[in-house]
Amino acid sequence: MQTFRFDPCDLPDTALALRSDVRAFLASELDGFPARKRAETWMGWDADFSRKLGERGWIGMTWPKQYGGHERSALDRYVVLEEMLSAGAPVAAHWIGDRQSGPLLLNYGTEQQRQKYLPSIARGESFFCIGMSEPDSGSDLASVRTRAESTGDGWVINGTKLWTSGAHRAHVMIALFRTATEEGNRHGGLTQFLVDLDTPGITIRPIRDLSGNAHFNEVVFEDVLVPDTQRVGETHGAWKQVTAELAYERSGPERYLSCYPLMAELVQEMHGKSEHSSRDEIEIGRAVAELATLRQMSVSVAGMLDAGQNPALEASVVKDLGAVLEQRIPGLATDLLGRPFHLGAGGIDEAAAYLVQNAPSFSLRGGTREILRGIIARGLGLR
Ligand SMILES: Cc1cc2nc3c(=O)[nH]c(=O)nc-3n(C[C@H](O)[C@H](O)[C@H](O)COP(=O)(O)OP(=O)(O)OC[C@H]3O[C@@H](n4cnc5c(N)ncnc54)[C@H](O)[C@@H]3O)c2cc1C
Repeated sequence: MQTFRFDPCDLPDTALALRSDVRAFLASELDGFPARKRAETWMGWDADFSRKLGERGWIGMTWPKQYGGHERSALDRYVVLEEMLSAGAPVAAHWIGDRQSGPLLLNYGTEQQRQKYLPSIARGESFFCIGMSEPDSGSDLASVRTRAESTGDGWVINGTKLWTSGAHRAHVMIALFRTATEEGNRHGGLTQFLVDLDTPGITIRPIRDLSGNAHFNEVVFEDVLVPDTQRVGETHGAWKQVTAELAYERSGPERYLSCYPLMAELVQEMHGKSEHSSRDEIEIGRAVAELATLRQMSVSVAGMLDAGQNPALEASVVKDLGAVLEQRIPGLATDLLGRPFHLGAGGIDEAAAYLVQNAPSFSLRGGTREILRGIIARGLGLR
């Protein structure tokens, strides 16, 4: 039977020096940044902040210099991500471009597409969103119905994308469309496109979530014309591209660190209390031990990426176990502090109230738990 492989991985000295630089930058940049904003972490959008990271060379870190990248290691990049997330920095604007759209274009884009998009992503000036899900098509991605019909030198698009995070602020969507119906092959007939979101015929409607925020959107395409130069990779051959892209989406430390800023505040508040029970200490100890273990596993995934290996199975395990822990932390705060939390209360109470309302989505976004466990079972040869 195939098993998981998490080889221990030490961060190199370059990464340790980088960590102090990033920490110093964040300490001054996020001075006075409220706990509620920190709780949003990678959902928090701040274009100026992204531009400042771009100036420092902390976006597109592993990409070739010819496309605006910095040719640093995946482990250096890991350290930057870890510092951003644990400080609760507002990285949403550039996050998708850095995490998955850029690598997708490096693997499958044309030279013209790379030159057009990668340098501005790395500068923190060009923001991307992911157009995969549709009404009735989330877990079963192969059922997408939004169609791109060939016009000869281009494509005309009709249909609707759903839950598209950041589409109302992004410049470009990398979208998956149906370009053919292939009898008996649901994974065939799908193609990816770069869609500039100011193209005529696109309507973007933000959707409010439980906490009143509008992070994701419904995006309607009505006779939208996209030139063939915007097609990414093979016509009808996008299935292998999107599954590779989803591996990038699922493998980062954001999949277990989303609640870290709240956890840090909780530990600090518990520390300041004159009395706590041994049960409090055990609960905190258990969560910290899980965080430390997930961190080792996640660093190991970054190490495998650095070594050119494919850690898709290990990344899925980190995402699944990470989401379980992330979803537990807001409840742990409620339990240990023993008071109800309200939005508008400020401080740790507000951060906890926000996360109590948002945590249910952590096991949906990026692929639901049930689907992920199916992928893990297949990877282990169990189905
Ligand atoms: C905060 C957030 C942000 C998102 N951002 C984006 C984005 O930017 N771009 C994008 O394209 N999408 C985005 N999504 C959509 C997300 O990827 C989908 O919600 C997800 O894939 C689930 O699809 P669905 O909502 O259609 O649920 P469904 O597929 O209808 O699933 C409903 C339930 O049935 C279960 N289920 C379905 N099929 C099976 C099966 N075969 N076996 C067992 N159980 C099954 C699921 O696990 C789930 O519990 C986002 C979602 C959230 C919550």
